[in-house]
Amino acid sequence: MQATLDEIQDFKGKYPKQLWYLFFSEMWERFCFYGMRGMLTFFMINQLFMDEKVANLQYGATQAFVYAFTFIGGLFADKILGFRKSLFWGGLLMIIGSCILAIDPKAYFFLGISFNIIGTGFFKPNISTMVGSLYKAGDIRRDAGFSVFYSGINIGALLGGYACIAIGKGTFLESFVPENLRWNVAFGLAAIVMTISLITFVFTRRSLGTIGLSPLEHKKEGVFYNGKKWYEYAVYIGGIFSIPLIMKMVANTVYTDWFMYTIGPFSLIYLAYEMTKHSRDEVKKLIAALLFILFSVVFWAIYEQAGGSLSIFAANNLSDKILGTFTLDPNGVNNSSNALFVILFAPIIGLIWIAMAKRKIEPNTVVKFGLGFLFLGFAFYTFYATKFFANVNGIASLDVFTMAYFIVTLGELCLSPIGLSIMTKLSPARLQGVMMGMWFLASAYGQYVAGLFGASIVSNVENASTMDKLISYTNGYKEFALYAIVAGVVLIIISPLIRKLMGDVK
Ligand code: GLN
Repeated sequence: MQATLDEIQDFKGKYPKQLWYLFFSEMWERFCFYGMRGMLTFFMINQLFMDEKVANLQYGATQAFVYAFTFIGGLFADKILGFRKSLFWGGLLMIIGSCILAIDPKAYFFLGISFNIIGTGFFKPNISTMVGSLYKAGDIRRDAGFSVFYSGINIGALLGGYACIAIGKGTFLESFVPENLRWNVAFGLAAIVMTISLITFVFTRRSLGTIGLSPLEHKKEGVFYNGKKWYEYAVYIGGIFSIPLIMKMVANTVYTDWFMYTIGPFSLIYLAYEMTKHSRDEVKKLIAALLFILFSVVFWAIYEQAGGSLSIFAANNLSDKILGTFTLDPNGVNNSSNALFVILFAPIIGLIWIAMAKRKIEPNTVVKFGLGFLFLGFAFYTFYATKFFANVNGIASLDVFTMAYFIVTLGELCLSPIGLSIMTKLSPARLQGVMMGMWFLASAYGQYVAGLFGASIVSNVENASTMDKLISYTNGYKEFALYAIVAGVVLIIISPLIRKLMGDVK
């Protein structure tokens, strides 16, 4: 007997049991996603022999596309597939993409990546939306649930981000994997974990009751029935047919620019059209959601320096000693410390929110967002401050750098899981997927702007000494810190206005 929605949402304790099922599905999906993402640039340079600049641009293009397709994935989930089928379809495409790469990563590189782009678009926003559906409107446990879900994301990111590239490069499991098959196995691992993700979902989806069913399905004589199946098939076929197009667009990054210029305005026009069909209160909430989305572009543009300028900074300007004793690869620290801090601190922050809510002193969402920016600002001031802990050769302290990542993480935890949560609170039922897609679309723009920001501080320092690089990068970080602080202060100042728009949503 399937549980009803009320039974699911009336769960006892801190977290609904379905949260854990979605947690594991998402954890494995993120393993696949971050595993693959962590290999892209290296693989393009060392195996496909692209020059560094081209590889960087193409990496940026894939990231922008991945997140841009979440808008499309969310839209089709709302209108036709429902969240569950979208998830299944997206997961399947990701498995196919990873298998293609496992078979021959060099020959089928862009084909495999394109499958993964579309697949993530269908998977990523919709699993997050389903987490929101586990809670009744006004349930104070929702933010904490998203914090835990966010830990799952980062466990997958940490494991996948490390394992795949290390297998490919031959620094992990080298005695088990024949040298000529390392990259096949690395991409194959992504395919295997994605299969685990999908199997987890398939075996637990019944526990979701009616959550995530297609909006076209209606109960007829006790069973769910969809009279418009061919809509569904059209989405599947459309998805497959767009793959050659995406292959072309990722391979030529000028198309990425065009795509990015178009998809954002298109999404806004679409939202404006949807607004005409909703009540005044719903529209106000949607405008509030949009403000959160716009601010988050600024957040991600600064935050995503991690994959770009900060990794170059780590390679050039950091000592490899932590706490004066242990030796660690500074790039390893740059790639993994954030995920590790999220795993350790997301549950604690989740519990802090619950404890504060019980005492009625929990900061509201806008203030949490503002805090997220302030932490981000302090973190970038700390990246800047590494220069005061540098030796005469321009090699700065890894300890201070790691501290900065800890502060970045606090900021991320005030904004990113809360952002997922608030999208589910502010969106009417028929727009949940689209709004979650728009939330991730902001990440696409963030990635895009991050590349431009990063390039603006890199271009001054080519052929410069290590000391010059230190000064140039850290000055850039000081500037980013200021942007973050200004955004945080503005948010806190306009918070009464946004809260008015949010109405009864806290
Ligand atoms: N790291 C988080 C995730 O993978 C957030 C990513 C983002 O929105 N940019 O889900």
